[in-house]
Amino acid sequence: MAFQADFNRDSSVPRFGGHKILLVEDSRMFSAVLCHRFQTELGLNVKTCPSLKALQEALAQDPHGYTMAVVDLNLPDSPYGEALDCAIEHKIPAIVFTATFDIATRNRIMERNVIDYVLKDNEFALDNLVGTVRRAILNRKTRVLVVDDVQSARQVLVDLLTAQQYMVVEANSGLEALAALEAYSDIELVVTDHHMPDMSGYELTRRIRHRFGSDKIRVIGVSSSNDRMLSASFLKAGASDFVYRPFVAEELQCRIANNVETLTQLKQLRAAAACDYLTGLYNRRYFYDSGPKVVNQCLRQKAVSSVAILDIDHFKRLNDTYGHEIGDKVLIAVAARLATIFEGSDNLLSRLGGEEFAILFPMMDSHAATKLCDEVRSDLSRLKVSADDEELSVTVSIGVAEIAGYESFENYLNAADQFLYMAKHKGRNMVYSDARMTQEAAQ
Ligand code: GH3
Ligand code: MG
Ligand code: MG
Repeated sequence: MAFQADFNRDSSVPRFGGHKILLVEDSRMFSAVLCHRFQTELGLNVKTCPSLKALQEALAQDPHGYTMAVVDLNLPDSPYGEALDCAIEHKIPAIVFTATFDIATRNRIMERNVIDYVLKDNEFALDNLVGTVRRAILNRKTRVLVVDDVQSARQVLVDLLTAQQYMVVEANSGLEALAALEAYSDIELVVTDHHMPDMSGYELTRRIRHRFGSDKIRVIGVSSSNDRMLSASFLKAGASDFVYRPFVAEELQCRIANNVETLTQLKQLRAAAACDYLTGLYNRRYFYDSGPKVVNQCLRQKAVSSVAILDIDHFKRLNDTYGHEIGDKVLIAVAARLATIFEGSDNLLSRLGGEEFAILFPMMDSHAATKLCDEVRSDLSRLKVSADDEELSVTVSIGVAEIAGYESFENYLNAADQFLYMAKHKGRNMVYSDARMTQEAAQ
C-alpha cells in the first residue's frame, strides 16, 4: 500500500521481461523492425527464425522456453503454413502474420486455434501486430468467467478464450457464476448465455451490475435466441455488449478484446489520477480518498492509528542556491528513499505537494509512530544527492498525531501539522508529537 510501484509515467510500456517469443519471418525488413519493436516497446526477448528449419532448430534447443510465436505463413522452405503447424505441435500459442489471405486460408488458420491473425495488407500492419502480441501477453493475467448451462456451448467459448490466452473460469448456472465471482475477486469479464434453468443471463447481468460497476467487470451476453429485443434488454440491464449465436469467432474475439482494453484504460486512468507526477508516489487526492477509509476501519476495531507530515527543511534555500531542477532531483530522491523504507508495509505514503509528504500508520499509536519517524528522519539525513559536482544532503522535520476517535480527516492532518510547526520551531531535523510532548512534560 505504501508505494504505487506498478505505475510509472511510462506505463504505456508494459514490462514483459522474462517472456521469450519466437519470430518466424523470412523478410529481413519485417523481422528487423518487429524484433526491435518487441524488444523496446514490450521488453520481450525475441528469437528470430527466418525459416522452418531455423524454427525447428530453436525448438530442439529449447522446446518449452517460448511464451508464444509470431509466424509468417509462407516461408521459402515451408510455403503452406508448415511453420505454424510446427509451433502448434509444440503447443506454442501462435499469432499468424500473413500477406496471403482468402477465406480458405482464414479457415485453415482458425482451425488451428491460433491467438489471432494479422494481415500484412496495410501501413498499420506492424502496429496491429505489436498490439496483438501485447494484448495476448496481458490476457495471461486477465480472468474471464464463462457461464452456460450447456456443456458443449460453454466449451466453444472456453476454447476461444483459452486460445486468446485468458485465464478462464467456468460456471454452468447463474448461481454458480455468482459463487465464482465471490471466489475469484479478479474476474474482469463475464461472458454469459441467456437461457439457463436457475437464472437467466439477463437476471445474472442485473445482479452483477447491482454489485459491480462497468468500470470493474464487463458483461457480454451470448444467445441463440430469436428474440431481437434480447440484445437491447441485456444492454439496458448493464451488459457491455451482446452477440447472437451463431457468431463469427473473430467478431466475438474483437468485442471481448475491446471490453478488456476499456478496463485496462480505466485502470491506467485511475492510477494516473492517484499518482504524483514528479515522484510517482500516491498524491494528495489519493491520500485524502483512501486515508479516511483506513482510519475508519481501524476505529471500528477500536484501534488507534497515527498520521505524520514530513517536510524538508529549508527547501526554498536549496532551490534558490541550486535551481529548481536540482530541487526536483532532491524531491525525487527523498520520495524514492521513503518508498523503499515503507515498501511492503501497511503504511500509506503520499506526497501532499511541494516538499511535504504524509504517512498514515494504521494500528500504530503515536509512541510507536514517533519512534519510526525518528528512524526515517535519521535515515533521510544520510541520503546523498549528487548535484553537478557536489553531494547534497537534506534534513526533514516531522509532526506526528495520534488518531484515537472519529473526527474529520482534515482535523487529524491539522494536528500533525501543528506538531510539524513545533518541530520546525524547535530547530528542525526533528520529530514532534503528542507522545513526545507528554515525555517532555514528564521530565
Ligand atoms: P522550512 O524549513 O520552514 O520548511 O522552509 P522551506 O524553505 O522548506 O519551506 P517553504 O514553504 O518556505 O518553501 C518551500 C519551497 O518549495 C517553495 C517552493 O518554491 C518549493 N517547491 C514547491 N514545490 C516544488 C517542486 O515541485 N519542485 C521544486 N524544485 N520546488 C518546489
Ligand atoms: Mg520545508
Ligand atoms: Mg513546506
